[in-house]
Formats: sequence, C-alpha cells, structure tokens
Amino acid sequence: MDRIIVLPGDGIGPEVTREARRVLEAVAARHGLKLGFEEALIGGASIEATGTPLADDVVALCRESRAVLLGAVGGPQWDEMPVETRPEKGLLRIRKDLGLFANLRPASVFSALVGASSLRPEVVDGIDLLVVRELTGGLYFGEPRGIALVEGEREGRNTMVYTEHEIARIARVAFESAARRRRHVTHVHKANVLEVSQLWMQVVEEVARDYADVELSHQLVDSCAMLLVREPKRFDVMVTSNLFGDILSDEAAMITGSLGMLPSASLGEGGIGLYEPVHGSAPDIAGQDLANPLAAILSAAMLLEHSLDAAPAATEVREAVSRVLAAGHRTGDLVLDDHEGDTLGCRAMGDLVIEQLESAP
Ligand code: NAD
Repeated sequence: MDRIIVLPGDGIGPEVTREARRVLEAVAARHGLKLGFEEALIGGASIEATGTPLADDVVALCRESRAVLLGAVGGPQWDEMPVETRPEKGLLRIRKDLGLFANLRPASVFSALVGASSLRPEVVDGIDLLVVRELTGGLYFGEPRGIALVEGEREGRNTMVYTEHEIARIARVAFESAARRRRHVTHVHKANVLEVSQLWMQVVEEVARDYADVELSHQLVDSCAMLLVREPKRFDVMVTSNLFGDILSDEAAMITGSLGMLPSASLGEGGIGLYEPVHGSAPDIAGQDLANPLAAILSAAMLLEHSLDAAPAATEVREAVSRVLAAGHRTGDLVLDDHEGDTLGCRAMGDLVIEQLESAP
C-alpha cells in the first residue's frame, strides 16, 4: 500500500485537492494501484487548530509517506501575522524538512486552450516543456548575505554558490526526465560571466556521459528567455539553478496563459515527492465551487509518474483532461470571449474527468 498524505491547506486548497484525490482513487482502481490516503493540516487551517502553520507530527507523517499532495496556503485573515508564524512558513518548512531540491514545472498547452495564451496560436500549439529548477541552493541560500554599512554607505550582498554534488543530483533528475520524454536537455547558464555556471557546465557534461541517448545543449540564460517566447516548442527539458529557474519557470508558465492549469512537483533525495498546483489559495473564490481543479489533478498525474512509477496511469489522467477540454467544458477562469461550451464548478469538472477516465478503453 502506497501512503499519500493530502495537505489541503486554505482557500480553494480543500476543493481542488478533493477532486485530485477522487481522480487518483479512480485511476488507481483501473491500474491495480493500492493507495492509502491520510489528510492533515497545513497553513492557516493548521494555525487555527494548533497555533503553528505545520505541526511536527504532520512532518513525521509526511516523512513516512510515499508522496504528499498539497493544495495551497494563505489568506487575508493571516496577512497581518509575523512572517515566522504565517501560513507560508508551513510550506517552506515542509519543502525544507523533506529535502526537496528539485522543482519540476511542466508547461504544456492543451490544444483546446491555445487561445488563452498571449502568443500566437501557431507558436503555442504543441508546447510541451519541463523546467527542472534547483531549489535548495544557489543565490537564495549562499553565505555571506545581508545589508551592511561599508565605508559610510549601505552595501547589499548575496552569494551564488553550488557544490559539485548539488549540481550532479539536479542534472540527474533532468536527464532521467528527458529519457522518459523527447530526450533533450537544455542546460541554462551564464558561463560567459559566472564561474559558478562554468562549474555547472562541467558537471552537467559529466553526468550526460551516463545518458548516451539524451542529447545535451547549453543555452545562455538571456538568449533562453528570448527563445522561450519566440520558439518555445524547441525545448524539451531545461535544467538550471535556483535563480534562473525561478524566473524562467514563471515565464514558461505564462506562455500557456492559464494559472488554473499549472501543476508542479518537488522531489527530494529521500524519494518523497511533494505535488501541488502552481496557483495560490484564491480566497476571492474559495468555498463557492468556482475553482478550477485541473492544476491539482495534473499535479496528481505527476505524482503517479514520479512517486508511483505509474506513467501509463499518469498519461490516462492527462488524456482524460484533454478530452474534457476538447469537448468544450470549462471552469470560469478558462472561459474566453468566443467560448460556446458550458461553464462548470470545481466538483462538476472533477466528475467529468473521472467519467472520461472510466470510459477510456
Ligand atoms: P492566487 O493564485 O491565489 O490567485 C490569483 C488569481 O487567480 C485570483 O483571481 C484567483 O481567483 C485566480 N485563481 C487562482 N487559482 C485558481 C483556480 N484554480 N481556479 C480559478 N481561479 C484561480 O494568487 P494571489 O491572489 O496572489 O494569492 C492568494 C493567496 O494565496 C495569498 O495568501 C498568497 O500568499 C497565497 N499563495 C499561496 C501559494 C501556495 O500555496 N503555493 C502560491 C501563491 C499564492
């Protein structure tokens, strides 16, 4: 039995994770997967019940699980709290405590939704790329850091530092992912200026020797940012540092145009994965059955692929989502001016995905 911990969190988190869990249960039954679910608190919901955004026993529960499915945290009622005790702290803690060093952010466009992008349909249709971002090192964590008074003026300082080990393990995640996809890794760097990037270049090349059937190319981060909007279809898997990945994963995501459609996965050395939609807790629509559950459902598909080694089940989920969209069904956030199909709530969208799953051959 594979144990999955569901952390619904706040706002629309409980609504969207409920649909994702139902989809997992339906696909598990079809594929003979034995899943056991347990729910626990994180974020504002945890603050209200326990006084802390993530309790120690929840961390322990997650550590003993196969995977964690998370909704979202935060809301206006906790915005005035000190940073150390706010809901977001729960999210940062679970990522840190599970040692999640690899953040996987796919950007793909379902044909039925190409109109949601601000780019021309012919540029967007068929995009299917994955940004693999290093999550626990680099400029965001390097020491020394801070703002100090130096010779009478303030000086700000951060340090970009990576060890060989940190680069090799994220490179392996990228090559493993590419081996299951179109077999191309683009390493994104700034090696013309940064020694750290030169080390990345060397180590990524060394790791590439173990993956003879995956092609590797290197791309400067500035030209990569331009290519992403000019020719996004040329990319399969991108691997890069924390800073560059932070920016490029959001750029890639916005090419697709639909916040309610974007899943993510964070993987750690302990083998536990954390899966969550990219969107936040959307307090403006929470509790009204208006949320789009597809980002959470597609996160569940990533869980099947990366934590349960069930790629065919993951593909079935994605194909069910694609068929629902192709048939014209939309939640409110996906409705465009020329839309002629129906507008559904969160629950009804979940129902349709399950219906499509169960009617698949
Ligand atoms: P948000 O992503 O929650 O919402 C932005 C806009 O998109 C809103 O209009 C919202 O209604 C809409 N939206 C988002 N997801 C949707 C979905 N699945 N279906 C339909 N519409 C959707 O971002 P925000 O408004 O900046 O933040 C709201 C709260 O969420 C804040 O407390 C913020 O700190 C938190 N947040 C949490 C996470 C996370 O848990 N990972 C990420 C971002 C923001």
